Amino acid sequence: MAMALRQTMTPFEAVNYYFERAADLEKIAPATRAALRMPSAELRVEVPLRRDNGDLEVYVGYRVQHDNSRGPYKGGIRYHPNTEIEEVRALASLMTWKTAVVDVPFGGGKGGVQIDPLGLSTAEKERLTRTYTRRIAGIIGANEDIPAPDVNTDAKTMAWIVDEYAQMKGWTPAVVTGKPIAVGGSYGREAATGRGCVIVMDQAIKNASWAAKAPTVAIQGFGNVGSWAARIAHERGYKIVAVGDENGTVYAEDGLHIPTLVHHRAATGTIHGFAGAEALDAEAVLYAEVDVLLPAAMGEVINHENVDRVRCRMIVEGANHPVTPWADRELVERRVTVVPDILANAGGVLASYFEWVQNIQQFRWDEKEVNDRLTRRMVSAYESVQLLATDRGLTLREAAFVLAVGRVAEASALRGAI
Ligand code: NAD
Repeated sequence: MAMALRQTMTPFEAVNYYFERAADLEKIAPATRAALRMPSAELRVEVPLRRDNGDLEVYVGYRVQHDNSRGPYKGGIRYHPNTEIEEVRALASLMTWKTAVVDVPFGGGKGGVQIDPLGLSTAEKERLTRTYTRRIAGIIGANEDIPAPDVNTDAKTMAWIVDEYAQMKGWTPAVVTGKPIAVGGSYGREAATGRGCVIVMDQAIKNASWAAKAPTVAIQGFGNVGSWAARIAHERGYKIVAVGDENGTVYAEDGLHIPTLVHHRAATGTIHGFAGAEALDAEAVLYAEVDVLLPAAMGEVINHENVDRVRCRMIVEGANHPVTPWADRELVERRVTVVPDILANAGGVLASYFEWVQNIQQFRWDEKEVNDRLTRRMVSAYESVQLLATDRGLTLREAAFVLAVGRVAEASALRGAI
């Protein structure tokens, strides 16, 4: 049954709000719905951390496995102080629908540790990662559940996971994706989520038949997703006028020179203090008057309190659940196109799938091969979603969920799991 829309919903309620709507449209039977709504398994672990000064601190970690009807659970690991079980459930569920939208043979999972990693030394982050890996090692595996990087984790973190796992169970590079190239990573994986965002942005703009001038873009977040999306969009002639993070926004009406901003960040550790750019507050990036807003940081940043201040024509969801359902409805009413997270940021899991395939075959593709495959599959996923949306009078988000829920329900029914 459809859920009532409320101004504030937990992240998991929000994902299920979209799931229920799609299940209604697809006439999914009640028992199947119940099974697909809830995670299959949730592991909560204690993660003790010995600090460099000898102090012992204890953190909480999670791994949630949402659904594996179409293949092993798949999803990132994040280190963030706001990592709560409801959010990890939501992110795991989004992974189930995302892997189905881009038709890779995975299910959905997610993990994280509730910690602010910014004050940790590299050695502390490594010890934290190794302990967390040992505690979840019983449920992950190349054919069971395959983690990847997410907020505040990266290729280096994945190298520690693969090493710790190897010490326990033998060399298994396919247990995790997003690894450095030197330990079985794939060319093109690091940039893939940002690249995928730009590929679907191109498609959505083509579909909207905007005039040919360089579209203006504002990007929240300059980490993995945001910085790669910025670089690739800049190369393709988009004008990126605003980039923001939790400490502020850098703004230039005529467009930021992104390669120079990348150098500035590498040299100073921050995007702030960038010559020739105006310094605005952190939220300003969300309210810039632009063609496309690309949130690529945290969830729920566009919500009932600030949606009326958003002035873009299109939102491409680089982050996971950056728009609450309440805000989403207002944007739909205002005819703002929203390319949903489960399509827009699926380039990462597509390239993760390519990495996993290469690991299993013990074979390596060059970067062009990976990027060409990524482009073909992202364009094809966008076209399937757009076609369904047009045919059935749905938003892109509704169409993406209908496509995904239909695929997962079909696999689940054929396997006879429920
Ligand atoms: P990251 O840690 O590399 O970067 C996060 C960025 O967000 C940083 O620039 C940080 O300064 C900024 N940020 C953090 N808190 C903020 C706040 N409160 N306000 C504004 N900015 C803030 O993380 P990432 O891997 O780029 O992930 C970003 C988003 O994309 C997340 O929602 C993640 O789940 C999603 N995502 C990531 C991948 C991937 O492959 N890494 C794939 C799919 C989706």
